[in-house]
Amino acid sequence: MTDQKLALVERQPWHALDCAAIFDLLQTRPDGLTQTEADSRLLRFGPNRLPRTRPRSAWLRFLLQFHNLLIYVLLASALLAVMLGETIDAAVILGVVMLNALVGMIQEGRAERSLEAIRKLVDPKASVLRDGRRATVPADALVPGDIVLIEAGDRLSADMRLFKARGLFADEALLTGESMPVEKAVAPVPTDRPLAERVSMGFSGTHITAGQGMGVVTATGPATELGTVSALLGQVRTLKTPLIEQMDGFAKRLTIAILLFSGVTLAFALLVRNYPPVDAIMTVVGIAVAAVPEGLPAVLTVTLAIGVQRMAARNAIIRRLPAVETLGSVSVICTDKTGTLTRNEMMVAGIVTAAGECSVSGSGYDPHGLFEVGSRAIEPDGLLIAVVRAGLLCNDASLRRAGDNWVVDGDPMEGALVALAMKAGFDPDQTRKELPRSDEIPFDAAHRFMATLHHSHADGPFVLVKGAPEQLLAMCALERCGDGERAIERGEWLARVEALAARGQRVLAFATKAMPTDHDALSFADVEYGLVFLGLMGLIDPPRDEALAAVAACREAGIRVMMITGDHAVTAREIARQLRLADDPQVVTGQDLDALGDEALKVTVRSATVFARTTPEHKLRLVEALQTLGLTVAMTGDGVNDAPALKRADVGVAMGRKGTETAKEAAQMVLADDNFASIVDAVREGRTVYDNLRKVIAFTLPTNGGEAFTIIAALALGFALPVTPVQILWINMVTAVALDLTLAFEPSEAGTMRRPPRARNAPLLTPILLWRTIYVSVIFMVSAFGIFFWADARGHDLATARTLTVNVIVVLEIAYLFSIRFVHGTSLTWRGVLGTRAVIVGVALVVAGQLVFTYAPFMNRLFESRPVELHDGLVVIVIGVVALLIFETEKWLTTRSSRGIERPVR
Ligand code: ATP
Repeated sequence: MTDQKLALVERQPWHALDCAAIFDLLQTRPDGLTQTEADSRLLRFGPNRLPRTRPRSAWLRFLLQFHNLLIYVLLASALLAVMLGETIDAAVILGVVMLNALVGMIQEGRAERSLEAIRKLVDPKASVLRDGRRATVPADALVPGDIVLIEAGDRLSADMRLFKARGLFADEALLTGESMPVEKAVAPVPTDRPLAERVSMGFSGTHITAGQGMGVVTATGPATELGTVSALLGQVRTLKTPLIEQMDGFAKRLTIAILLFSGVTLAFALLVRNYPPVDAIMTVVGIAVAAVPEGLPAVLTVTLAIGVQRMAARNAIIRRLPAVETLGSVSVICTDKTGTLTRNEMMVAGIVTAAGECSVSGSGYDPHGLFEVGSRAIEPDGLLIAVVRAGLLCNDASLRRAGDNWVVDGDPMEGALVALAMKAGFDPDQTRKELPRSDEIPFDAAHRFMATLHHSHADGPFVLVKGAPEQLLAMCALERCGDGERAIERGEWLARVEALAARGQRVLAFATKAMPTDHDALSFADVEYGLVFLGLMGLIDPPRDEALAAVAACREAGIRVMMITGDHAVTAREIARQLRLADDPQVVTGQDLDALGDEALKVTVRSATVFARTTPEHKLRLVEALQTLGLTVAMTGDGVNDAPALKRADVGVAMGRKGTETAKEAAQMVLADDNFASIVDAVREGRTVYDNLRKVIAFTLPTNGGEAFTIIAALALGFALPVTPVQILWINMVTAVALDLTLAFEPSEAGTMRRPPRARNAPLLTPILLWRTIYVSVIFMVSAFGIFFWADARGHDLATARTLTVNVIVVLEIAYLFSIRFVHGTSLTWRGVLGTRAVIVGVALVVAGQLVFTYAPFMNRLFESRPVELHDGLVVIVIGVVALLIFETEKWLTTRSSRGIERPVR
């Protein structure tokens, strides 16, 4: 392309030009650019990408950590301490705040980066013509002049001038605010029309809701209309979910309660206990700092982010964070069959025509194999060749060699038909050139067939139709037999269909019809009646090996798996049986569903496992029926019409590979590998994340409570403080940073998938948690006073007694951490003792901190601590071990008695 012409490219009224002028201006052709030309244009125009919002800088993230009521309380306490001349206290409080902010900043940065990386995994793709062939390229590789193939469910990735549109509708609400889809056409539109009326254009970012078409790219990246809508560029993803918000709210209420309580305590200390004002204030500051769970929100966020990362590593990409929580409570998974439970690696295994049946050998898409009758190889001819050729021509896919493998561009089932034709000796490109297609009716799950119109020099125009057998049989009047045509025997064909389906094969039927000479456009009326039936093909698509194990895992975890497929009932049941979805899978067809009222449907969904010959609309009804039974539903989908069901489901799951962009955007989670097993992995991770959130809360509340209670009790009972306010701050600093966070990294517990799903909306703050907060706090308090008085009785001075108390509190926190790591079972196992890397690092840091606190002379000066004798140190450790045993006994008792309560509504 010359530079003058390039300069023109951005300023043309593309919608007003006719197509020939556009091809000329953009120096392209209806069969696409060459790859070399596309590469050079990519360099010239840059990638087709909008400038990304820059990630928040580390500084900003750091500063934002301070914007939190809990932190304000701490900062105010520090200020108070400075004003009272208590610089060490102030420094320690600031140390807590700084460390907290630093950890928050680093972890949130990691979380943001990983979410960004995960987002990239679902970057869109586009179908283009390059070197005259269909190819799938990343959307950011589109260049002006590229020819793009458009179909329902696509999200356009560049602005393009349409030159082919069949029933093409686009939802352009994003750009124009118009909520109804707009019908597209190819005729030029007057130059001065506003965007909403430029029907000859397709715009980047808009969705194709129906039809098929082709367009030539006119603008990419920032030059598109979308690129000029700057408001969209500022979108930021938040790291919030309902649960986290619920906890944020709780933390705020707790802070206010602590403040009020501190006020009362201050009055008590001053008026009843007659503390000197500075001591009274600093004691209350100590209580407040001890009780405020300042690290909690950040740790919860990190826990979620780690869950998202782990899910991504297992091919489940979370698009909306709340899904991480919901996944853990999923009680029904409604899944597609093809490609999700099966491999979507299709191969034609058998062909049936009026002349007889033959089988086809081979492997995958490799176009080598034999046609056999019995075990005798035959040369395909006559009727057999007619069906195979129909499969090749009524087809949009192509096969290409990649190394040792053959891969499909387009629909895998159509790829199998191309491979079959090549086995029969056809050269796909040659045949498609000899019998060119002048029009088509694309496949749609609603009508279940596809038709193409071709021209043959010898015989004139003819139409080819392929689709679901019942559908085609209803459209045929005749069938082709060895010596001509005869009236169709529907009953016999249906029996043959059942026989193929009973082997678990997907059955496809083929038909044809001659058309009048001047016919060059195809309508439904042309194919609805009077077709001539050619024959059937049976395609194998074996179940995925890992799906079998995943289904078994679901059944053990109390999760029902339901198959919702467009395929034939008999095929679907056979696959369900092979995958052991149920002991005796019950099948309901779309037709049966239509006949059922809402109440009857509720009864049916309780027992049925397979829903066959369904349309996407049925999915929505099924989700709603299941939800009224109180179940939490995960639903898969890939087509544009699946979007409502995906949105309605508790977790909408879109297919990353075969899914349309519309489905992906409606979904909460995208499966990078389209694999059912990945959904089950995500459920396991979802349960783990929920457990870990509970563990973080169950750890933070009682430990903070224990520290605060200890000071309050001393004040109330008029004892000497067993720990000074500044020592409490120290404990808070080391444990908040090093211990809380370790729980975010906990792996799944052993029985995670052997438990029934948690009930929907089960609260995080359960009565058990409240009880535990109180009883653990009490144990902390009793142990603290116990060691304090024991030390006093042994003749230790006050400073040494306090040092021992600080160490006991820290050791108790470690013991409690080990106990809380397993909420569903005992921690007294080898795995429990060894801990995770995070736990080991955390505990090592805390122990090192305590050694410094106890033995380093400068710390002795700063915190009024004293070195401890070995014997006393051993007593501290023994207290920790005894406490662990108490914690474990209590857990054993409460989990035993609550087991019945946690069962979900079924
Ligand atoms: P699943 O729900 O298991 O993924 P599916 O999505 O493949 O199944 P549909 O795509 O709705 O189901 O297909 C339903 C039926 O339509 C198929 O069983 C087949 O008979 C027919 N069919 C599917 N794809 C095509 C096509 N490209 N051309 C013609 N007929 C097709």
